Formats: sequence, C-alpha cells, structure tokens
Amino acid sequence: MMNPVGVHALVWAGDLTPKSVARIVTESKRAGYDFIELSLHDLTDFDQDGLRELLVAEKMGVSCSRGLAFDADVSSEDPVVVARGVQLLEESLQVASRIGAKYLCGGLYSAFGKYQQPVSAQGRRNVVDSLKRVADRAAQYDITLGLEIVNRYESNVVNTTEQALEILEQVGSPQLKVHLDIYHMNIEEADFYSPVLACGDKLGYVHIGENHRGYLGSGHLDFPSFFHALAHINYQGPIAFESFSSAVVSRGLSVDLSIWRNLWSDGFDLASHARRFIDGHLQASRKQGA
Ligand code: MN
Repeated sequence: MMNPVGVHALVWAGDLTPKSVARIVTESKRAGYDFIELSLHDLTDFDQDGLRELLVAEKMGVSCSRGLAFDADVSSEDPVVVARGVQLLEESLQVASRIGAKYLCGGLYSAFGKYQQPVSAQGRRNVVDSLKRVADRAAQYDITLGLEIVNRYESNVVNTTEQALEILEQVGSPQLKVHLDIYHMNIEEADFYSPVLACGDKLGYVHIGENHRGYLGSGHLDFPSFFHALAHINYQGPIAFESFSSAVVSRGLSVDLSIWRNLWSDGFDLASHARRFIDGHLQASRKQGA
C-alpha cells in the first residue's frame, strides 16, 4: 500500500480566489497527486464550499496547514494573546472540516517567525494547555493535528523530534501526531533516520522538500535514509511535497518562509518531477527492505 501523496498549493498559486483554487486542484491532479495542502494563513476571497465541490468532482483530497502569529500565539505569557491563538486554531479546524480535510498541520504551537528569546516555562505550559483544548475540538471534527517540527528561525518551541514527543506525551491526546519535515530536520536533527524511528506510530504527517526548497534531488539531503526509515516503521500516512520560489508569491506566507529568490519558474515541471521522485524512493525503500 502506498502513502497518499500531496503537493503544497503555493507551487501553483499564492492566493485562494476561485480561479486560483481551480488551478491548484486541477494542476495537482494532472501532476499525479492525491491531495492538495492548503495554508490557512490568508482566507481572503476563499470560497470554501466551492473548493469542497471541486475536490469531490475531481476526487482529490485536501489537508490544511498554518502557523500562528505574534499577536495570536499559544506560547505567549499573555493570556489574551494565548486566547487569540486558541481561537485561530479553532477557526482553522472549522475551515478544515468544511472543506473536507482530515489533517491540520504546521507550527500549531507558536508564531511563525524568529523569536528574540527562548520560550518561557509559563509559555510552554500555555502551549500544552492550549493544545489539549484544541485536540478535544479536533476529535469532534475527526481531524488529526500534526505538530510540525520546524527550525530555530521559525519557532522557539518545537525544533526537534524529542521536543515534539514530549509535548505529545503531556497533551495526551490520540488526535495529536508528529509532523516531520526533512527540510527542517536537515537543520536541527543529527540524522534523517533515528528521528523517524523515535516517532514510530506517533508520526502522522510528512513534508518532503529539498534543503534549498527547490527541485528534489538537486540539493544535498539524504532522501534514501529518510525513506528507508519511513519503510522501517511502515509509515502509511500522508506525504506532502513543499517547494517555494519567488515565481509564485503569497501575501504574508512567502515572507514568513523567507522566499527571496527564484528556484524554479515552471510549477508543473517541478511538481511532476517531485511526484516521480517521491514514488521512486517509496518503491525502492519498500522493495529493498528497511
Ligand atoms: Mn513543512
């Protein structure tokens, strides 16, 4: 059995107008993907019911991702800021449910950006308490939360698998899983194999991206190690391809992701290449034993 494989919407379009959404769904399908991943950071002009109808018609799946903001941050010490963070996550669950998503992933535990100091003990307690509430709500929607481990420049709360597993333990909800991204692992983890094994059945979502976020295989990441580890734990969950270039600009998100240069201009060529690349590694790692 092969994993569902998806592609981030920002490969195709930087906004969610009906025209862009149609392009995101049809191009993703044409490039061979099973689902699209949609960032919920900016819902301007977004027709949620329209997208759901289109997904059903095209037999495509969807997952959602997002980070928080400095004024809506569950890792803050300020209860007002924490409450706004929880509200943002609950609103995101509503949107995810309405468009038919089964996963809400990303940096669900802090603002998306560079912090000027480490997270405080109170801030970290607020993360755990907030995620308990949000996980209860996610259970009502039957949505899995993926705690994405991101690098030190994008959060000060969860940078390693060890830190993510500790939060899962403290939240204690089966709704909450680890979301690994090989791009971030390259910066923070010692290797690409042992973190996957440490997660085991707690791994719920995976991002695949090159170290410079361009064409897969054109950088220096050890994909065979990572895919062998996925085969070793018999990971059957979603795998989404992430790649960003200044060729497609999203208000806010491109800045949060520090997309300053052009790594590609033909999204279809990039995405169909990535689909073959991921498929090749999935097949090889399963056939050659883990
Ligand atoms: Mn990612």
